[in-house]
Amino acid sequence: ARVDNPYAGAKVYVNPEWSKKAAAEPGGTAVSHQPTGVWLDRIAAIEGAGGKMGLRAHLDAALQQNANVVQLVIYNLPGRDCSALASNGELGPTEIDKYKTAYIDPIAKILAESRYANLRIVTTVEIDSLPNLVTNTGGRPTATPECDVMKANGNYVKGVGYALKQLGAVPNVYNYVDAGHHGWIGWDDNFAASAQMMHQAATAEGSAVGNVHGFIVNTANYSALKEDHVKIGDTVGGRSVRESKWVDWNRYTDSLSFAQAFRNQLVSTGFQSDIGMLIDTSRNGWGGTARPTGPGPTTDVNAYVNGGRFDRRIHIGNWCNQSGAGLGERPKAAPEPGVDAYVWMKPPGESDGASKEIPNDEGKGFDRMCDPTYTGNPRNGHNMSGALPNAPLSGHWFPAQFQELLKNAHPKL
Ligand code: BGC
Repeated sequence: ARVDNPYAGAKVYVNPEWSKKAAAEPGGTAVSHQPTGVWLDRIAAIEGAGGKMGLRAHLDAALQQNANVVQLVIYNLPGRDCSALASNGELGPTEIDKYKTAYIDPIAKILAESRYANLRIVTTVEIDSLPNLVTNTGGRPTATPECDVMKANGNYVKGVGYALKQLGAVPNVYNYVDAGHHGWIGWDDNFAASAQMMHQAATAEGSAVGNVHGFIVNTANYSALKEDHVKIGDTVGGRSVRESKWVDWNRYTDSLSFAQAFRNQLVSTGFQSDIGMLIDTSRNGWGGTARPTGPGPTTDVNAYVNGGRFDRRIHIGNWCNQSGAGLGERPKAAPEPGVDAYVWMKPPGESDGASKEIPNDEGKGFDRMCDPTYTGNPRNGHNMSGALPNAPLSGHWFPAQFQELLKNAHPKL
């Protein structure tokens, strides 16, 4: 039987491949012992691509470490990353059958092997997928043709439903569905509609809500955990912070308040009342010398918000290799009500995307949101991208970013 919180009292698996890269960087041993997610980002990752450890090798290593929890990322939907290009995948928009039989089925089969029965296997399911169908489709200015296709053909919904059903059939698997982040679905237009989309997916392809143990927010994103000096109820000269350019009518200013509220929304949409949230804190520390030490000036609402916010991004829609970012809270079980754990699902030091076009055989495209000279698109309010220069392909090791994250860690290392 599953426990309520798989992280409670658990030792979490340390990925030796990430750990080695982190430890080889100056200062890296301060964090190289931390658990991070294992991304199954292509079919070949199951057996181990290019000399890397495959799924069985990771699970065996977890047994050797006497770990209780292993964290996997299920990330290979057809038409992956429909609103961006940096993490486009190997499967075309129509390849749902291949997703099922060549990707999900083999993973489920390995996870069900009896020697892994005592591991709690956390699977985070399809990062950055379902909310795209709500926010980046139809007549919206943020729509992309690729997301319209994935909405019309139903293959994100079917893929997630199938993954949840097959993985959920393994008694020691804990499925956490990706739930974006507050700077994406924290607006009224997106909030309830995204929860409904997730419910639709969780009940597609013969799945049921019981296959969902919880949800994960802020994976591979940068939204601060707690904005101590910018609370959504704050007002300046009679004007709500919601009227500021930065908040722009969002209902949330940080990951924690969003995660807790979205949990309630999901329960009222039909998910089980005991679902738990995970918050990815791998890169949302925003420490260093630029971190505000108190609230901003009360001269006007924009000065107040910009002077007090920890998140130093140019715009909340920026997502690629953010300059100024730091490591956030270290992984931790049951840190807050409704939250099963703070986790580092995105391995710190792995790029979000290349800053220029780099030919590759991974299906990865070039997204200008990773180019520091780019002036933006409707999804980041036509602002500069805020990305670090000279980044490699998404998922590849990016030493300069790792140093940035160490330098700006909060809590400090
Ligand atoms: C990439 C994956 C990678 C993951 C973790 C994603 O953005 O597309 O290939 O495994 O990040 O770094």
